[in-house]
Amino acid sequence: MAVVVQKYGGSSVADIPRVKRVAQLATGARRAGDDVVVVVSAMGKTTDGLLKQAHEVSANPDRRELDMLLTVGERISMALLAMAIKDLGYDAISFTGSQSGIITNDTHSDARIMEVRPTRIQDALRAGKIVIVAGYQGVSTRKEVTTLGRGGSDTTAVALAAALNAQRCEIYSDVDGVYTADPRLAQAAIRMDVLSHVEMQEMAEAGAKVLNAQAVEWARRAGIVIHALKTGEPGPGTRVEPAPPRASGGVRAVVQRARVLWLSGEARADELLAFLDGHHAPADLCWLGGGRVTALLPLENLHGLEVFAAQLAEKFGGRLEAHTRFGAVSLVGDGLGASHATLGSALRVLAEAGHPVHHAAHSALRITLVTDADAVPAAVAVLHRAFLETPAAR
Ligand code: ADP
Ligand code: ASP
Ligand code: MG
Repeated sequence: MAVVVQKYGGSSVADIPRVKRVAQLATGARRAGDDVVVVVSAMGKTTDGLLKQAHEVSANPDRRELDMLLTVGERISMALLAMAIKDLGYDAISFTGSQSGIITNDTHSDARIMEVRPTRIQDALRAGKIVIVAGYQGVSTRKEVTTLGRGGSDTTAVALAAALNAQRCEIYSDVDGVYTADPRLAQAAIRMDVLSHVEMQEMAEAGAKVLNAQAVEWARRAGIVIHALKTGEPGPGTRVEPAPPRASGGVRAVVQRARVLWLSGEARADELLAFLDGHHAPADLCWLGGGRVTALLPLENLHGLEVFAAQLAEKFGGRLEAHTRFGAVSLVGDGLGASHATLGSALRVLAEAGHPVHHAAHSALRITLVTDADAVPAAVAVLHRAFLETPAAR
């Protein structure tokens, strides 16, 4: 039988009726004749709630204990879903990340999957069970529980799809595919039928949370096609697949990070890199040299920002400034590096709309513009209009 991996995100299992609906959907796939593995996220905003509790206890929660806490969210969903499926008369069993054989490195809060050994899942499938897996978590080679970074249940799904040689990897959320911008910010955003792994990975790395960056990276390496779909609504969704570069190039999507940490000033490159690595705070973009550094850091996996900033100030003094009032808007598309025309137009469009651009970076696949955090939503809308809504742009 073919293996199908389905992943349901937090909004899809936000309450008991929704858990029961996912049980219906999973058993439907089973009835269609597939071996079904369901990866679940924590219910609704559970992970945010657990993080808040941790920060009420400590300004800089111990990372090992934080992972022990955050992994609870997905365990609740997996157990409830297994119960709901059993109630429908199907055999089901739930597994934690560790029980599923998701082996990671030991970077708490943002671990990377090193290997998948899904023997228990395979045994359970062979025994005719529907297998439910807690997303977003694994176990390190030192046997510590780890989490895969925010949005990491997608990574669990893709890694399992690769390890189980699945026929399909379906990622279900509250949106019916990947759009040319976050549909919450750009009303006219268009769903894309197909998107290359390379472009989707760049979108995810620039902050598009519809799919997780590590998940797409894994899919690209393993040649897994990801189907991004909406829970309970049949539709074509978006296929993220290996694809040759598009001949025409141009902007494919507008992506935002609502808030970033922007570092700028004087520091020795090796000292800054050691500091960031010591805090497991990888930069999304950085420029180093001549004693000057500039770096843009995502905030979602940097738990304990105040302590991080205080330690940064202690180490580098006033020579290195850390700003948190900025956000970033990116234009993504294979071939954007071919000329500076798009960057020039983007700067003009934002200037005309009155949105400041403090810094800009340009690579083969992406243009990133750092603006004020409160200007981000409007900047997304205005860039989407300029590059993706005019007939010439398409
Ligand atoms: P889940 O909890 O199911 O993993 P997420 O909240 O992580 O779902 O991702 C879905 C959300 O991603 C959507 O609600 C949407 O607002 C947001 N999003 C951001 N960028 C895009 C995009 N380009 N296309 C579609 N959705 C996007
Ligand atoms: N529950 C985790 C989060 O909120 C993982 C996920 O949803 O994929 O980030
Ligand atoms: Mg997600």
